[in-house]
Amino acid sequence: MVENAALNKLLLALFDFDARLQNPDDFVERFGIEIKDTFGVDETRARVLGRKDGITQVEEYAINTNRPYVDNRLSGYSAFAELINYYNSGFKSCAVLPIAPGGKAIGIITLLSKNENSFSPETSDALSTVSNIFGYQLLAKMEKEKSTRLAKYFDAAFSSAVPQALVDSSGIFVKVNKAMVMALDKSSKSIVGMNINSAFAIGPDAIENIKKGAVIEANSAVPPIRVFRISGSEVSSSLVHISALDITELKMLIDQSKIFEHSKNEALITIDKNYNIKWASANIGKVLNYSSIDLLGKKFSEIIANKSGLEEMVQAINGASGEYSGANKIIFDNNIEVEVRITAFRNSDGGISCILENNSRYAYTKNMENSLSEFVSLSGDAVISINELGYIESANKSAENLFHVKASELQGSAFSLLYSDADSQNRINGALSIARKEGFVGNIFANLVAKGEEDPIPSEQSVRRVIDENGKLSGYIITIKELATKRRMEQLYEDNEKLARNLKNAMSESDLKTQFIYNISHDLKTPITNIKGFSKLMLGGSFGSVSDEQKEYLKIILDEADRLMQLIQQILDVAKLSSGKIKLDLQQVNFTKLGENPSIRSLAEVARNKGLMFSWNVDYNVPEVLADPNRIIQVLVNLIGNSIKFTEHGGISVNVYRKGKNVRVMVKDTGIGISKEDQKKLFKKFYQVQKKGLTKQEGAGTGLGLSIAKEIIALHGGRIWVNSEPGKGSEFWFTVPISGSKKNKKQ
Ligand code: ADP
Repeated sequence: MVENAALNKLLLALFDFDARLQNPDDFVERFGIEIKDTFGVDETRARVLGRKDGITQVEEYAINTNRPYVDNRLSGYSAFAELINYYNSGFKSCAVLPIAPGGKAIGIITLLSKNENSFSPETSDALSTVSNIFGYQLLAKMEKEKSTRLAKYFDAAFSSAVPQALVDSSGIFVKVNKAMVMALDKSSKSIVGMNINSAFAIGPDAIENIKKGAVIEANSAVPPIRVFRISGSEVSSSLVHISALDITELKMLIDQSKIFEHSKNEALITIDKNYNIKWASANIGKVLNYSSIDLLGKKFSEIIANKSGLEEMVQAINGASGEYSGANKIIFDNNIEVEVRITAFRNSDGGISCILENNSRYAYTKNMENSLSEFVSLSGDAVISINELGYIESANKSAENLFHVKASELQGSAFSLLYSDADSQNRINGALSIARKEGFVGNIFANLVAKGEEDPIPSEQSVRRVIDENGKLSGYIITIKELATKRRMEQLYEDNEKLARNLKNAMSESDLKTQFIYNISHDLKTPITNIKGFSKLMLGGSFGSVSDEQKEYLKIILDEADRLMQLIQQILDVAKLSSGKIKLDLQQVNFTKLGENPSIRSLAEVARNKGLMFSWNVDYNVPEVLADPNRIIQVLVNLIGNSIKFTEHGGISVNVYRKGKNVRVMVKDTGIGISKEDQKKLFKKFYQVQKKGLTKQEGAGTGLGLSIAKEIIALHGGRIWVNSEPGKGSEFWFTVPISGSKKNKKQ
């Protein structure tokens, strides 16, 4: 309470002062002092504007608003740092008064008191009376409602549209800002002093939880019902600063935007008054190549390609209808542009809601989906698609055939059930995790189970990852090639084994034959030896005298016995060779010396007797060869013998050359020659060319000679062949490896 006496004293003092000093600066100072004295405040600070001293925030506030700023409950919490300083210096109340003679502020006075609630409306009234008397328009019209003052303080302190308040520890509103007054739709007078429970539908312990940092969503306690998100923090032992964000619209928007969540081509975004994107529906990534996080905070104009289209939109929305619909392009971060249709309308909060419709992507995705499912159904391989969790989404016809189930039965079941064993499952799971990173894995071998089949089905599989339009993994395509070939291989293997067994049987049969021939031939030799022996004895007269005629027949018997013996020898050779019983007696063989061999020399004799030339030519560089000399002679005797047999004019020559690692031997004659057709069959057993113009004896033979020669040369690791022209003669060639055959060397 200001005493009239005190006021009078102040007036007198100021009159006196004004009379002596006409300087406004001095007046301000004097005014401060007098107020202090008159009103019994603990401290007064006077500031004259125009001096260059740093002006404090709260002073600035008072000057700019031309209103006194009064805080009758200073605390450690304030947006104005100097108010906290005053509190820390022990003051409890503070009034900051602008002095504005003629409406223009010339100074500012700060009154500080160590008691709470020191500055009342009366103080303000008294001061304005004083200033009026002096013609200084002291704009100290103190507002009567504490709450409104504090609301202003908050507005200034936070310049925020978010409803805020200070409540005491029992939940009573102490200070509220303008936004809170508006949010609760009550006079500020009625809010201050009221419990926060009556403003919001929250429980009695809510304030305790808010202090601890809880965020509470609550409706307003009385209609009109709005939804608030209330949070706060403790500012002192007795005060909690809370903010209550009105999320009614936001919640409605979220609810409404659920419509969009399932849309593949439409997304909703909201834009604030400054054209910043402040919200996007969850499906934004599906529709545009943006995640909502990338999008939030971007200016809408940043993502719009056609700026004149954007202007059109803004105009339309600001126009009478408040709505817009038109085409534009969205630019993605990677500079790709995509055609969109924009439908926009003005929101109640002054922002804009925008429906973005991306039909190109939708069409593209649909196309992809269609061609993919077409591919899956047309593929001859079994194809199943699974989602990222491993559940079967689709299966094609081939898969139905493979698993003996309808695709509809497969759908929705875990794909791992298709595998018959843990190994296969592990392999395919491993492949999935590689495919997730690398896109594709092939050559996975896994055994499958099919309905009604006992045996697992071997298969080769590949896995391809499927990425959705958002670039996110949406599943995998598994292609399965049934290893029919593997089954077939096993079948073939079995067949082959069967064949091999049969062959073995057949072989042993032929072995038996060979053995039989071998035995028989051997047994035949004994009687023939006897026939030959006794015939010779008879011919020699050991059993009495023999007539000339008898001698002639005895000679025929002897000759035929020789032939028989030769025949048997050959048959024996063949039997021995084909049963592998012949072992070569390998020695260093010198072909020049071989020509001196009695068998060869006697053949040369036979040739000359027939009137044929015979020559044996060995090249200067022919080395010795590792061979069985008797077998080589056997071959040569056969070849030379044949040549003599089938040659009537000209002669026979044996020519030996070196060729690489082999020695080549050629037995050449000028005989009847051999047709191309016969040449192919010559070396087969028992083959004889039809003989024309030959004496019966000369033509006689077994047809075994060349086949034996072939076997012997083969045993040496060489080969034998013939060049011949009917009527001109023949060349029989054979080779012998110089260092012997590899096979024989091993032995
Ligand atoms: P053979 O004991 O009947 O002579 P070979 O196997 O030695 O059996 O010869 C097979 C056939 O090849 C002979 O019957 C003959 O018709 C033909 N032949 C072999 N050598 C010659 C040759 N130098 N000139 C013409 N024909 C030949």
